[in-house]
Amino acid sequence: MNEKNIGLSTRCVHAGELKDLHGSPHTPIYTTTTFKFDSTADLLDVVEGRKSGSLYTRYGLNPTLFSLEEKLAALEDAEAAWVFSSGMAAEAALFLAYGRKGIVCIGDAYGGTMELLSSQLPELGIPTHFLLGSELGGLKMLLETGAGLVFFETPTNPTLEVLDVRKISGMVHEYGALVAVDSTFASPVNQNPLALGADFVIHSATKYLGGHSDITAGALMGSKDLLASVWNWRKNLGTVIAPETASLLARSIRTLTVRVERQNATAQAVAEAMTEHPKVAQVFYPGLPAFAGHAVARSQMKGFGGMLTLELKGSYEDAVRAVDRFQLFAIAPSLGGVESLATMPVTTTHHGLSPEERMRRGISDAMIRLSIGLEDAADLIADLEQALE
Ligand code: PLP
Repeated sequence: MNEKNIGLSTRCVHAGELKDLHGSPHTPIYTTTTFKFDSTADLLDVVEGRKSGSLYTRYGLNPTLFSLEEKLAALEDAEAAWVFSSGMAAEAALFLAYGRKGIVCIGDAYGGTMELLSSQLPELGIPTHFLLGSELGGLKMLLETGAGLVFFETPTNPTLEVLDVRKISGMVHEYGALVAVDSTFASPVNQNPLALGADFVIHSATKYLGGHSDITAGALMGSKDLLASVWNWRKNLGTVIAPETASLLARSIRTLTVRVERQNATAQAVAEAMTEHPKVAQVFYPGLPAFAGHAVARSQMKGFGGMLTLELKGSYEDAVRAVDRFQLFAIAPSLGGVESLATMPVTTTHHGLSPEERMRRGISDAMIRLSIGLEDAADLIADLEQALE
């Protein structure tokens, strides 16, 4: 089901599904923590890697997890995928497996990622470096001094900056280092970083893959060889997903393309409407032809996603007043669910940064980030208009 000629929607529905004895159309949930063998020789075949098979759920060796991982790999046309208890768990395992010589983070990233990279990993002696998307000239020097892993999100949070995956991968590979792209904002429907030259793709499956704000999960996709070294980190940090959650995630992925294509269309309509609004200074959305990242987005994305950010003409207080008046948009962090959410970066994702650092990153106090759900575009636009009045 991972063949290139099979469409993404078909993969979402059918890839990885196990056929059981009772004719269930979907993989059953194996809640068991352990699996029994007919003989010690059979057990040793699995323990010593001669045969694949179920053994112990924390190791990831459970049929429900195998099934989900085959589906996740198919979404990114990857040889393999590992599924984790959260997006952060996927990142942490990757950083520990491949980042020990040094990690470069380009552009903005999720606050938890920033904290892990700037606080916890340096405590372990892991060197970490940060470049803005406009500072790619500094990458060469960091790679020369031995950084082994380059990590970035695209599009980024909250300014939707679009980083050029082909260009950065080319630069990084010249130095024998590896590239990991957090493609959470785009989802596999809109962007496939492995096909653009990246070595790993990460998803906070809590977002579009889960899609209903009721699952916390993460995924890492890449080649079998590269993913092999990450397996022991997941196993021994104990950060595998629970089978019940794995089954919910597989359920959600079956409708992924339908949800994301609709979210793309609604976000485009909202972005266009807000561009005209007299109280809006700027709309950050890769699908707008006037947006700085539009050309690169067109070259590497199939759709422009359901995330956009508005910068209001006015102050922090004006933006708070608007957010507090929303009737449909819920004031909540996170993204990618069926319900539309609104959050101000200054109060949530970028609250921990100093005002100077926020300014350096182009994040203003009057920004409102929107995650577009599955409501009608006209209703969302009406809600924005009444809130901005
Ligand atoms: N990557 C991005 C882009 C995110 O927005 C988030 C969470 O908001 C994460 C990673 C971390 O994911 P999780 O909350 O599933 O650990």
